[in-house]
Amino acid sequence: MLAINVVMRIDEEELSRAVAFHGHLCFGLCVGLAAARHAMEILSMSKAKDEELVVIAENSSCAVDAIQCLAGATLGRGNLIMRDWGKHVYTFGRRSDSKAVRLALRYDAFKGLRDMRRRIEKVLDARAEEIFDVRELTMELPPRAEVERSVQCSFCREPVMRTRTKSRDGKLYCIPCYEKVYIQQP
Ligand SMILES: [Zn+2]
Ligand SMILES: [Zn+2]
Repeated sequence: MLAINVVMRIDEEELSRAVAFHGHLCFGLCVGLAAARHAMEILSMSKAKDEELVVIAENSSCAVDAIQCLAGATLGRGNLIMRDWGKHVYTFGRRSDSKAVRLALRYDAFKGLRDMRRRIEKVLDARAEEIFDVRELTMELPPRAEVERSVQCSFCREPVMRTRTKSRDGKLYCIPCYEKVYIQQP
């Protein structure tokens, strides 16, 4: 864990909040902070309170926590979509007009910079184009998350969202029951 006294364009309060949420200061968290900060500047948006902003993160790394904290795109609210592709690529989309910006960490952005503190300083201090390939695009955004009614699974008897059930022989099952995850295999 590193101390929070690096030079940054991200303001100190944003960094502290992200570190408190994530649990430590690390390079990945700072990549997420930088991506969120630049994308929100480009889209002229502030932290999302509802689903006005949608983010697609192409990894499941520390960076995703910074995006949840700074951009207000969260898994629970359904405006953060994670694709576990192991890439530092983040697409931020504005629902009002489908305008989006895709930031992809450049392969050579940190070439020769081995020291973690210096890498963190660079990612927090750099202009967007120095560390990311930035592309503006129009994006087909997923529909807003809806509150779905629950039904009872015919096997485990637990409530399950109607749209997530599978049916067999006229009965509805939750996915783990349908796939026999809950049933001990012989
Ligand atoms: Zn981390
Ligand atoms: Zn079940």
